[in-house]
Amino acid sequence: MADEADETGEEVARLAETDRTRLRRKRDRGTFDRAVATAILDEALVCHVGFIADHGPVVLPMTYGRVDDELYLHGAAANDMLRQLVRAPACVTVTLLDGLVFARSAFKHSMNYRSVVLFGQLRRVVDADEMQAASKAFLDHLAPGRSADARRPSDEELRATTILALPIREGSAKVRTGGPLDTAEDLDLPIWAGHVPFGLATGAAITDPSSMRRDVPTYLTNPGNRA
Ligand SMILES: Cc1cc2nc3c(=O)[nH]c(=O)nc-3n(C[C@H](O)[C@H](O)[C@H](O)COP(=O)(O)OP(=O)(O)OC[C@H]3O[C@@H](n4cnc5c(N)ncnc54)[C@H](O)[C@@H]3O)c2cc1C
Repeated sequence: MADEADETGEEVARLAETDRTRLRRKRDRGTFDRAVATAILDEALVCHVGFIADHGPVVLPMTYGRVDDELYLHGAAANDMLRQLVRAPACVTVTLLDGLVFARSAFKHSMNYRSVVLFGQLRRVVDADEMQAASKAFLDHLAPGRSADARRPSDEELRATTILALPIREGSAKVRTGGPLDTAEDLDLPIWAGHVPFGLATGAAITDPSSMRRDVPTYLTNPGNRA
């Protein structure tokens, strides 16, 4: 296997290529390059967590944070999903939509994207320092620098929170770029073909009426695209 976990515990440059992560369709769009995968994880804001719950398969959207090669999820200690998640392996997927692709043929319409699929067993975080580090990662994932401003979670707040960690180890990334890929016989059809880029845009920050601090932090003052 190309990507055995490093014995020194250091991050390895590639995600693990296993029977379930090996891309079969459109293999040329796939990569096990950890840097590509982590860049996607850091840019996206929402993941989808798939697992087998007591009543059957479930896929739920969640936010997340990353510290080195660990992906952290969190929720209320009373959250049933988080309790079920540590019982069996899960799959976490992250998607960035980069564009819509309009081909001449209906069949060849597509999307440009960057996505990551991770497999593994989630672990409940109990160490107080690791919980604080994960909490910092959740905030800095929303806006780098936010954790330095926000009040840290109290012990009581941490007790009311379940934090789970997934190793960023067994997974894959897949990337589609560019325009439509019509077949040669369709190229002369008088139908518009091309692609429409997509991006996540933010608006200007709106200060809460009761906020004691009125000036918007610099990490929130650029209302343009996040990317
Ligand atoms: C925004 C978006 C829209 C899509 N729409 C469609 C659609 O409508 N129809 C469709 O058939 N496919 C769509 N795809 C592609 C889809 O995610 C699969 O890659 C594709 O269906 C091939 O599935 P498979 O099971 O044959 O892949 P296989 O290549 O057999 O999958 C094997 C392994 O490859 C890896 N892998 C597969 N897909 C991805 C991925 N997207 N990202 C990272 N790793 C991956 C996983 O580890 C998976 O277990 C879309 C992808 C994105 C991101």
